[in-house]
Order: sequence, then structure tokens, then C-alpha cells
Amino acid sequence: MAWRDVMCGELRADDAGRSVTVAGWADTRRDHGGLVFVDLRDHTGKVQLVINPEHSSSAAEVAHEIRNEFVLQATGEVVARAPELVNPNLPTGQIELQVDELRVLSRSTPLPFQLDEENVEETLRLRYRWLDMRTERMQRNLRLNHTAISAIRSVMDERGFVDVWTPSMTRGTPEGARDFLTPVRLQPGKFYALAQSPQLFKQLCMVGGIDRYYQIATCWRDEDLRADRQFEFRQLDFEMAFVEREDVLDVMEACVVAALEAAEIDPPSRPFPRLPYADAMLRYGSDKPDLRFTMEIQDATEVTRDSEFGVFRNAPCVRYVVVPRTFSRSEQARLEELAKEWGAKGLANLTQISKFLSERELQAFGVAEGSTALFVADEEGTVARVLGFLRLHLAQELDLIDESLDVFHWITDFPLFEHSEEFGGWTFMHHPFTAPIAESEATFEDEPASALSQHYDLIWNGWELGSGSIRIHESPIQEAVFRVMGMSEEEQQDKFGFLLEALQMGAPPHGGFAMGIDRFIAKLAREPDLRQVTAFPKVASGFDPLTGAPTPYPDSALKDLGIRLLEPGP
Ligand code: ASP
Repeated sequence: MAWRDVMCGELRADDAGRSVTVAGWADTRRDHGGLVFVDLRDHTGKVQLVINPEHSSSAAEVAHEIRNEFVLQATGEVVARAPELVNPNLPTGQIELQVDELRVLSRSTPLPFQLDEENVEETLRLRYRWLDMRTERMQRNLRLNHTAISAIRSVMDERGFVDVWTPSMTRGTPEGARDFLTPVRLQPGKFYALAQSPQLFKQLCMVGGIDRYYQIATCWRDEDLRADRQFEFRQLDFEMAFVEREDVLDVMEACVVAALEAAEIDPPSRPFPRLPYADAMLRYGSDKPDLRFTMEIQDATEVTRDSEFGVFRNAPCVRYVVVPRTFSRSEQARLEELAKEWGAKGLANLTQISKFLSERELQAFGVAEGSTALFVADEEGTVARVLGFLRLHLAQELDLIDESLDVFHWITDFPLFEHSEEFGGWTFMHHPFTAPIAESEATFEDEPASALSQHYDLIWNGWELGSGSIRIHESPIQEAVFRVMGMSEEEQQDKFGFLLEALQMGAPPHGGFAMGIDRFIAKLAREPDLRQVTAFPKVASGFDPLTGAPTPYPDSALKDLGIRLLEPGP
């Protein structure tokens, strides 16, 4: 006999009269002194079992020992409920199962938490994830994860992409994080790095003639864990040969739309807006602006060039935001404190400084009654960053964000390099394989500060979903980028000799993208963090409450790997 012939949540009024077998978990059990009611649950929903001793004394005997989360199998007749007993809140609420035979397939010890309990501590949920996974929330999220990925795979299939598996254990891949290292028993003292991304392998696939590559690739990055970051995560990783930027963006947009449609969310219209990086920094003070509200940053640098107000006159950059309300003195002081925490020297409120400003300045700012203009004067980078944070902070605080909106957009034309305080030189903004834009190709080595790249990011409501670029496919340009980053020829050969060689053996023009799948699904599921859409995540310290990983290993095992531990210390 089959374990079950129908799912619990599928039974409806017109099934009345059928004899069926269901199996699942005991969600609740109510004993009405004789009559026992059990809500039996599987992932499709719940059905009410009625166990009546007058109908089946053996079933009644079994019913008494049932506790929550026992696994049961019940056979009986589907019967219509009397009109006054219909439960309009349950899709199966018009019927119940009159049980003839009842079996306990598996018992459960008392539960560490009830499935319908609210605010269960997260570490406890993760410690008993197999229970937590039975909740409606986790069932919905894990299934949504699958639905979205299936939709994405269909798009990639239709467009002729080939799923190629690339190694996890490899050389360090520069994606801006620390590597996780894997010691190698056969070569003591040497380590693989776990791939931060399949970046170089996918580029080599292009050189190898697989001109449409994709993978739902697991990546490892040793970075502090946050709401939108786990040590290991998956990305939709793809690469295309003989393409331009728009071809890559088109594929990614098709995937996003397909996944949203599969999740029954209204998809945004295409093409998604494209916003150059410089514009985003000027107008929103961020390279991942939330565009669900406006409150754009305004530039006042020119108007205040000869200002009477020294703070403005002497600053290389002056910008402001106009906020649609006024602030009390203490509110203003609190905002100024925040601005200082973000790195500003101060935050000027137009009403407080207007006596120092000329008519021309005041007219240029043109602030309406009931609104407030808040100014930051400093280096351009600081001004943009502080006003960007302020804009977001105020929007959240003043409830200016329309949560029902889904705004997707691209940020394009990033700088090719950024100055690194740490090395005191130039480093890559994204990764070192990103191509300069045509206009910067001849000049980037001499003028790295102003060079722009063919890099692009996809943003959803202020979350960066992923990045990509058109790549360098000529070795002299790749070498020049390495040189700007201060890499000697020897170091280039040592770390990236294989890439430089491949680029000299017929590398087609190519470009690609990678989108953080778990991040995308978290947003799709309207969840605040990745842990809610990941089956077995780790907590912020990197600890896995379920398995207890990471664990120490005995000295004998370490010895095989040629490893001796140092005393932990500074
Ligand atoms: N490898 C990049 C990343 O993981 C994505 C890309 O450039 O395709 O962010």
C-alpha cells in the first residue's frame, strides 16, 4: 500500500465520499473526551482527522498517544462538515476525514519550541532547523528559492547557455575578500583557496569557445557576516562572448522578470533604467541608491564659490538635501551628530545660516515653506557619502519609502580604479579583469584617477544584487591594469600567468555578470536577511548551531597536513 494517495491540503468539498490515505505531521490534537480531532499537515496544508471510538476503536486507541509532530498515516472517508462546523479560514475547511485506520509512523520527543510560536530565538531555530523548516514561512521560502532558480534556468536554457562546472578548490580569486584556505595533505604547506567566484574560469570558457556559460555557482568569501552576507553563497554566474554591455544586461533583466513572474510578483518594465555612477553619486550619494523615493541631493558648489559664509567658500564641495518637514533644535542636533559619525565636520540648516548668505544664494536654494535644506561642505567624496546616508536615514525615519514599489535599475560607468588607503596606491574598483571604456583605453595608465570602466551593478530597492562587466580580452591591456595596481611583471606571471597566456591565444571579446541568488530570493520573499531563505545558514560569528561547526581537529590529523597550531593571541 502506498504511504499516501492524496496530499493533506488538496482535499475539497467535492472529494466527499472518497476513501483516501493521507500521511503527515500531527499539527494539533484536541481530545473532546471520546472524539479526537487531529490536524494533519504536509507542505500543501492541513486536513482535519476525526477519530471516533464508535466508528473505529483501534484508531481511537492510537489517537490517545498522539502528540504534536508525530508522523501519522490515516485512512478513511472524506465527509462534508455540517454547515456550522465549516472553517472558512482553511482551504480544506469544508470537509474532514472520518478515520478508519490510524498508524503512528514515527514519534517525536517533546519539542524545544512549538511550530506556531512567535519570536523563537534564532539560534534555537537553527539548532533545530529540521523543525523550523516545517513552518509555513520556511516551507514557502525554500520552495520559492527553487521556483525562482528553475525560472532562471529556463531563461538560460532558452538562450543557449551551457552549464559548466568549475572548481571550488583553486588559486585565490581577487574579488576583494579574504580567501578560505584548504590545506592539501599530498602537498603539505600548500593550500587551495575556495573560489570567491568562478571569474577566471568563466573567462577561460570564453577563450575555450563555450560562448554562453552559466552556473548557479557556490562562492566562498571570508568577510564579516551580515544580513545580506554569508561565508558561502550562490550566484547566478554567466559569461558571454562577442557581446556588448546591453546584451549582458538584457539576459539579466530577462532572468529577473522570469523569476518575479514565477513568484507571482508584478515584474518591472524593461529595459530597467540605467544610471551612470557619477550621476548616482551626485544625486543620491550612493552607488546603490534606493529610487523608491526622490529627495535628490542638490549641488551648491558653484553658487557658494564666493560665499560670505566661510564654511561654504572654503570647501571644495557643497551640497544639500531638501527634506519635506522642519526640525526642532534637538532633532537638528541629533542629525548633526549622525552626520559627524558618518565623517562630516557639521550639518548646516539653511534657516540657521541664512543670515550669512546672499540673496543670490538664497534664491538658488529656493526652499518651500515647511521644508528644510540641510548642507554638508567638505571633500566631494565625504559630502556624497554623508548626504547619501542622511537621505536614506531621513526617508526611513519620515516614512517616505513606498514599500509597495519594486524599483530595479542599473548603475553603469564605474571608475576603473580607486585609491587604496591601505596600499597607498591604485587598486581595482570591482576586479582587475574589467575593461576600461573605449575613451579611457589609451589614457588609463597615465590617468588612472579619471578612467572609467565597463562595469555595471544591478540594484533592487537599494540592495546591490550583483555586478558584472565587459572584460579585458587583450593581454597588453590586462598587463597595463596590473601595472597601475603596482604589480611587477614577476608577480603578474606568478598570479595570473595562465590568464595572460590564454588572452594571447585567441580570446574573443566577452563580458558577463553574477547575481547573488540568495540575496535576490530574500528580497523576493520579502525577508530581511539571507538566513530566512537558506536551509542551513550560519550565525553572525560563523558558527553553525546545528552541527556545531567549525570544530577543532586532533593534532594527528593536523600533522598529516603539515600544520601546527599557534596559541591564539594578538
Ligand atoms: N566575478 C564577479 C563577482 O563575483 C562577477 C562578474 O564580474 O561577473 O562579483
